[in-house]
Amino acid sequence: MPTFFIEQFGCRATQADGAALERQLLDRGCTCAATPAAADIVVVNTCTVTASADAQARNAIRKLHAANPAIRVIVTGCYAQRAPEELAALPGVSWVVGNSHKPQIPQLIDSLSAAAPADSANDFFPAVALLPDSTVPFHSFVGAQPIAPPLGNILTGSIFDRTEFLSAPVLGGEGNHTRPTLKIQDGCDSRCSYCVIPFVRGKSRSLPPGEVIREIQRLTESGYREIVLSGINLGTYGRDLSPRAEFDDLLRRILDETAVERLRISSIEPLDVTQDLVDLFAGTDRIAQHFHMPLQSASDRILAAMHRWYRAEHYARRVELIQERLPHAAIGADVITGFPGETEDDHATTLAFIERLPFTYLHVFSFSKRPGTKAASLSNEVPGTVIKRRARELRALGESKSAAFRHSQIGRTLRVLTLCANDSVDSSRENTTPALSTNYLKVRVNGSFSANRTLNVLISGETVTTLVGEPILSCSASGVGLDPVGASLR
Ligand code: SF4
Repeated sequence: MPTFFIEQFGCRATQADGAALERQLLDRGCTCAATPAAADIVVVNTCTVTASADAQARNAIRKLHAANPAIRVIVTGCYAQRAPEELAALPGVSWVVGNSHKPQIPQLIDSLSAAAPADSANDFFPAVALLPDSTVPFHSFVGAQPIAPPLGNILTGSIFDRTEFLSAPVLGGEGNHTRPTLKIQDGCDSRCSYCVIPFVRGKSRSLPPGEVIREIQRLTESGYREIVLSGINLGTYGRDLSPRAEFDDLLRRILDETAVERLRISSIEPLDVTQDLVDLFAGTDRIAQHFHMPLQSASDRILAAMHRWYRAEHYARRVELIQERLPHAAIGADVITGFPGETEDDHATTLAFIERLPFTYLHVFSFSKRPGTKAASLSNEVPGTVIKRRARELRALGESKSAAFRHSQIGRTLRVLTLCANDSVDSSRENTTPALSTNYLKVRVNGSFSANRTLNVLISGETVTTLVGEPILSCSASGVGLDPVGASLR
């Protein structure tokens, strides 16, 4: 069987797809190579959320081919779904497989073992998303002309309907060595005017509750204490299932039926943050006090042009709900600056809104025109220099909000999970251990602790980007008291 390497790009959902693919390939007896250079096949799992994500993927493919022209490159992911012919034209690309047919990549790789390799090096595995019968053997397409589906057809068609929901936790990657991510929902039924995701991931689909529970049980039995639930639009979880399931009910079942110590929700749309959900978070210490709600803009005019379905006042009410019940919760937001037609007044409105509300961090994105989306056809573009300046102002505001939130935690006791030394907290300080609090703050705990310990920590100070804390009590399942040796992951 061939050796493979998966080169990952993109968001948690794309990384989860890569993890599922890796599980499929290992189950079939393939071997995962340590580096791309040591692999027979490299799967490049792409993102297309911005033009720079596209450029990164193209660069990576060019480098792979330059380093070793014999490597077979399979390109998959969101960019592969959006613009297959663009990728097929790159040197060294053997196949392009859209998200809709990603679960069939193992079959494609199987066929490689049997097929003569040489003549297919530049054959294009076309936009299989278009094909009505996904069981057609792959070799039927070798040499076929690329067919690019109009993006609108993807939205209205059923190309994703047969797409299996494969899920495997993402166990590696920055910040994830002790906090696996489990994707439980994919796709999106909304149509935000700037967003390409529904075109490349299809309609909302959910992993059935029983499978979610089983995956979480497996992870907790392996020793993981914190699990991050991710999805493209998590609040819509279960609406596609029969019988229909609700996200809140799923969380309750996970708490009842698994021993997971801490669940974290990666991101949720503001209108899905209901009183019930906030009460659920407030009623347990097993769900991290962390809400990440995309805002995008606080100008109602721009929100309408973006086809977002709430207005600033609705969003503010959700933040107030959280604050009332969980005054120390992390509240993060995505903001897009430079949407076509965004004026200085719109930008000032967004800054003032963010200033007023208790955000604890921001993710700021510059508007990027995505082909096929409604916003891409708008003519009133904001000049690049203006977008850059607005992004700088938003980031500076985000940093000052983060600093103020960190500072407000000094003197409090936070529950933290220790991380691997190479996970996201600054590792320059000796005899300290990086950790992450339930309210999503990076903490340097004085003392050496193994990764994956739950500790209560008294916050005694801060550095430029992290808090500093003294461990006061170990509350890991293995016992109570200061014990620097934690249970390792099995
Ligand atoms: S909710 Fe809007 S921004 Fe989020 S994935 Fe769906 S269409 Fe894109």
